[in-house]
Amino acid sequence: MAYVITEGCTKDELCIEACPVDCIAPKTGDPRFEEETQLYVHPDDCIDCGACVPVCPTGSIMPLESVPPEMASYIEKNAAYFQ
Ligand code: SF4
Ligand code: SF4
Repeated sequence: MAYVITEGCTKDELCIEACPVDCIAPKTGDPRFEEETQLYVHPDDCIDCGACVPVCPTGSIMPLESVPPEMASYIEKNAAYFQ
C-alpha cells in the first residue's frame, strides 16, 4: 500500500518537507521538476505514515484504497514516474 498524489497538485513541495522517508519526487533542481505537472509518491518506499496529507493545501494526496475510480489513473501515474 502507498499514498498517491492525484489531481490539483501545485508542486509547492510542502509534502516533500513533511515526508520522513524522502519518497516524493521530483524536487526543485531536478531537471524533471520543470517537465512534470505534479509530484509523485514512490509506491514501494512510502511507509504509509500519512504525514503528507495534512500539509497538502489542495487535498491531492490520499491512501491508495481511498482513490476514487475517476482518479484511478493517478495510481499508475505515480508508479510510472519511478520506473
Ligand atoms: S504517507 Fe508518509 S511516507 Fe508516504 S509519501 Fe506521505 S509522508 Fe511520505
Ligand atoms: S503538498 Fe500537495 S500540492 Fe503541494 S506538492 Fe505535495 S501533493 Fe502537490
